[in-house]
Amino acid sequence: MFGKSERVLKIVQAGDPVLRQEARALSPDEIRSRPIQDLVRNMRATMRKAPGVGLAAPQVGEPLRLFVVEDRPEFQQKQSADELMRMERHPVPFYAVFNPVLTVDDDAPCDFFEGCLSVGDFRALVRRARAVRVLGLDENAAPIEVRAIGWHARIVQHEYDHLQGMLCIDRMEARSFSTLENFSRHWAHLPVDELRRQLRIED
Ligand code: ZN
Repeated sequence: MFGKSERVLKIVQAGDPVLRQEARALSPDEIRSRPIQDLVRNMRATMRKAPGVGLAAPQVGEPLRLFVVEDRPEFQQKQSADELMRMERHPVPFYAVFNPVLTVDDDAPCDFFEGCLSVGDFRALVRRARAVRVLGLDENAAPIEVRAIGWHARIVQHEYDHLQGMLCIDRMEARSFSTLENFSRHWAHLPVDELRRQLRIED
């Protein structure tokens, strides 16, 4: 029906006002429109190129309630089986969700470092709920329910925040803020308890 061409879009960086706006919902007709179908495909290409595991429309300059997620098996090859188990990280096939409504299914606190394609090469410890569910519309404007646990739940909460004009730095443990290089060198392989102790983060 539509062309197959896709474009890698520019990802806006922290300080761009669009990242602080509340994004607006789309009607089913808008979702099925050519420009929005193109946007979904371009966001997928942009996320893959970055590479990233999630991307929200405001990050490409569009204040719309839409995000895409995909956690490809090859993104997880650098991590040990032990790390993947601690993160509860499993591959997630691509999906797009419009007008999401988020509910927490398990509020057990999970502390891990995360980053954002709109916050340069930085990482910080962010506390997220262990399991969430999202109700919304898919790219055909059909109802979709996504149940997410562990790392996938973290991705969903992170992308959902973008639609409220929030960034992970609003929720981060400020003392943990690290460049990606320093994160990899000093913190990436430490258990959470140990890095909280070394960073002197109070409970
Ligand atoms: Zn982000």
